[in-house]
Amino acid sequence: MSRILAGFFGLFLAHAAVAQDLGGRAMFVAGGIADARNGAELTLDLSQGVPWRAFTLTDPPRLVLDFREVDWTGADSKAMVHSDAVKTLRMGPFSAGWSRLVAVLNAPMLIDRAGMRVDDASGRAALAITLRGATVEDMRASSGAPRDPRWDLPQVTLKAPSRGADAPLRIVLDPGHGGIDPGAERGGVQEAELMLTFARELRDVLRRAGFAVMLTRDDDVFISLEGRVAAAHDARADLFVSLHADAIEEGIAHGASVYMLDENASDAASAALAERHDRDDILAGLDLSGSDDRIADVLLDIARLDNSPRSLSLARHLLGGIENAVGEVHKRPLRRAGFSVLKAADIPSVLIELGFLSTARDRTNLQDPYWRAGMAAGIRDGIAAWAIEDAALARLRRQ
Ligand SMILES: [Zn+2]
Repeated sequence: MSRILAGFFGLFLAHAAVAQDLGGRAMFVAGGIADARNGAELTLDLSQGVPWRAFTLTDPPRLVLDFREVDWTGADSKAMVHSDAVKTLRMGPFSAGWSRLVAVLNAPMLIDRAGMRVDDASGRAALAITLRGATVEDMRASSGAPRDPRWDLPQVTLKAPSRGADAPLRIVLDPGHGGIDPGAERGGVQEAELMLTFARELRDVLRRAGFAVMLTRDDDVFISLEGRVAAAHDARADLFVSLHADAIEEGIAHGASVYMLDENASDAASAALAERHDRDDILAGLDLSGSDDRIADVLLDIARLDNSPRSLSLARHLLGGIENAVGEVHKRPLRRAGFSVLKAADIPSVLIELGFLSTARDRTNLQDPYWRAGMAAGIRDGIAAWAIEDAALARLRRQ
């Protein structure tokens, strides 16, 4: 049984006109999580009432709150935690018209009480959620991502017709991270924002070269790794390119690198990077239990037999194009790791780390529109060279 606490629909409907006047978006005013009797209490003051719901997830234990919709400007997630019960707190835009707050808990807990009070005079809303300690079994029994048609996220329905022989190559560009998951942040630069900027620039460059291009996101919204793969499938993409500029915790690294999917990571750094991206989905409050079942894995392995050489060739052409255009790449530019986002088995898929936000030189390059234009041209040349080779090989395979 899953236990979901939702509220405010009645009031929202009764005051729809008022809510509309206010733009339907509440501003974060104040809030935090503090220790309380037998557990912890989360309080949030908002500029107005909005529909909300709360639920818990396990593996790891998390409290998730969804809102329609809260502007989190001014909220400092680190300063808001005053309880040892909470490991991390994260909030931000989730999907169009949605906001989310996720608290990763240090131990299993249950939602004890939850409610929102709206002050008649000021219109301000106060949300309070109390959590109490529980056993792992109890938390598991009452946790799960709720299914509720009033709340369910819009499904991506891009189902495109299949491509004719002479139609342009269909490329799905995937700006990494977004919304509640900002990705790497260094020196005032945010990976999610930077990758969206670059993806839009690259889209224009590729379209001018005659390719058909789609983005997995064209906004600051969160998309799960699985959702990104599904978008590529639905668009019947010919190739999938995920764009990132991560930070590394230790050592110095610079220059672009291209990653391919492999269950066995080529090195510890690649494994850590792939793991961190999967962890971002957990911090964004996704229920990942059972998402990676064995049958799907076997099917993926079969499909990958043909796909992997094509992805490898794509990765090599991309690195050639990038090195030509910007003059350098990472010292070990071709890497392998178990990135969930590369699991579109029948679509050649690569992940490009354009550079490292943790390295000053790369950070400067990434913020420079001229450098980015060179990078985009390099990627375009790499894809174009790959497409010619791949088409020739496809003709050979058919003979
Ligand atoms: Zn990233």
